[in-house]
Amino acid sequence: MKRDTRLIHSGQPRRNDDLVNPPIERASTVVAPTTAELYNPTPPRRHYGRGGLSPNMELREAIGELYGADHVSLAQSGLASVILALRTALPENPAGMQALITDSAYGPVRRFCDEELPRYGVTPVYYDPRIGAGVAELLDKPTAVVLLESPGSLTFEVQDIPAIAGAARKAGVATVIDDTWSAGVLMNPLELGVDYAAQALTKYAGGHSDFLMGSVAARGESAARLKDKDVLFGGHVSPDDAYLCLRGLRTLLLRIERSGASGLHIARQLEAHPKIARVLHPGLQSHPDHALFNSQFTGASGCFAFVLDGVNARDSEAMAEACHLFRLGFSWGGYESLILPCDRQIRRTAVAWQAEGALLRLSVGLEDAEDLWADLAQALG
Ligand SMILES: *Cc1c(COP(=O)(O)O)cnc(C)c1O
Repeated sequence: MKRDTRLIHSGQPRRNDDLVNPPIERASTVVAPTTAELYNPTPPRRHYGRGGLSPNMELREAIGELYGADHVSLAQSGLASVILALRTALPENPAGMQALITDSAYGPVRRFCDEELPRYGVTPVYYDPRIGAGVAELLDKPTAVVLLESPGSLTFEVQDIPAIAGAARKAGVATVIDDTWSAGVLMNPLELGVDYAAQALTKYAGGHSDFLMGSVAARGESAARLKDKDVLFGGHVSPDDAYLCLRGLRTLLLRIERSGASGLHIARQLEAHPKIARVLHPGLQSHPDHALFNSQFTGASGCFAFVLDGVNARDSEAMAEACHLFRLGFSWGGYESLILPCDRQIRRTAVAWQAEGALLRLSVGLEDAEDLWADLAQALG
């Protein structure tokens, strides 16, 4: 069966009853009839709430279906999922090693790398997101982990994932990717050789801007390690939120397709507008990584950015505030469209960010694409 069909039928209720959706089990305690059953259940049975009851189990199964993963862990936010993946990927004795971090990494992840990795004796070293196979040179030094994010969620550089993951594997170094932009459906980083795929389910998977959650997916030995470390670190998410996320997943493919199509339509209109210097959308022919993008992704999500020609950050904020349908907000991937002036957020140390003017990011939602364009056009005016 095709993936679309599998996603609809995965994570069905485990109990043999007549509901199409799993029950929400709010429980810490699971009782057993005997001590022997409590300690050595045969066959294995659920024994405590932290292990994930229903619908957490079904949600993990459905995300596993997307990635073709052997194990999926859930985390309390997208940020927590990237941190779980990084901590899992670290070798047992990482002191004195470096961690290679893409310069386009999500800001709060960057803060974790700068402030927490040194406590493990690990030094974060930022690399050009477009480094490709050139990463092999950096891997000459003892390396604990390589972090990727593609495309970068503010500046939209596409990374050569097979080249970077291949070089890391050859050097015996684990790789982690922040896969929030593709939501695990526009490309499969595990298929491209990455060890741990983290995702902010808060964005497209949830899709309704009403909870935060993250996931990490892995295969083989990495999956076993992830499962073990997740238990060690005490991860857990609310079953109510897990239910909302599973509900979001059922329509994920439809929503991301619609957002992606509207986003590309608006990106093309922006590209033709005299006040726009550049549109940072990897699905456009004009994007420097367009060919690489086509070789790895099956399509685009509705999140991209543009540069207002010769406009300073403050004036770009006035443009964003003049929108009515596009609201000002930090998130993306929801049903509603958002606009974000980004210049205040950009942090670069490997390659300086250079632009002809201010940077704004859009998350194109599920409204009519012509209405959305009319809103942007009047704000640009
Ligand atoms: C939003 C986001 C996160 C963090 O997700 P939260 O659920 O908000 O913690 C991580 N990475 C990227 C690329 C994001 O856009």
